[in-house]
Amino acid sequence: MNGQAPRVLVVEDDPQLLAMLTRLLTEEGYDVDEAADGQRGLHLGLTRDYDVLLLDRGLPAVDGLDLLARLRGRGVVTPTLILSALGNPADRVVGLDAGAEDYLAKPFDIDELLARLRALRRRHLDTARTLPVPGGRLELDTRLVVRDTAEPVRLSERESALLALLATRPGHVFSRARLLALVFDEAEHEAVVDSYVHYLRRKLGRKVIDTVRGRGYQLGRTA
Ligand code: CA
Repeated sequence: MNGQAPRVLVVEDDPQLLAMLTRLLTEEGYDVDEAADGQRGLHLGLTRDYDVLLLDRGLPAVDGLDLLARLRGRGVVTPTLILSALGNPADRVVGLDAGAEDYLAKPFDIDELLARLRALRRRHLDTARTLPVPGGRLELDTRLVVRDTAEPVRLSERESALLALLATRPGHVFSRARLLALVFDEAEHEAVVDSYVHYLRRKLGRKVIDTVRGRGYQLGRTA
């Protein structure tokens, strides 16, 4: 943290709750950025660096889970806590599946929220900017795949973004349409996804990404 205040992005469309969270987190020593809708949250999340994200699930413009998936698709791995009025176990699973590290149902206890944010920041410091991939890890800042058994391999920006998205949810099958929307430009054809899977396999070996017939792609399960 370099002695600086930890930076948090709060995305919440309820103005009273947003103001309350901002005041609370500022008192707690955070440097807070606010977004009142998903579009603004996405912009800030993509253009600024945060230590932790606090994300409401039900948002206008871009829904909270979609916002998170888009950030993950662009290689943003900032640890994220989802706040939601939907608190049953199934809702929780959907939130964690979307790439959140933690999930807290509203209404929540302030002290519990602060404790969970502290835990997320600690975890982030431990694993800052790297993601496990088959046989090694992807370093997002340098776009290097580092492995025990081979020379490091440098990826292009899009290769890195694609691999990072798959690596944030191991075992999850992404459709080509979803990968196109999250990593590439929706104006492009789905074949661009296949091309980049091919490039990654050529650089890192066939098993880095698994094809799931008729469904899409997932992170490889073996090195
Ligand atoms: Ca809301």
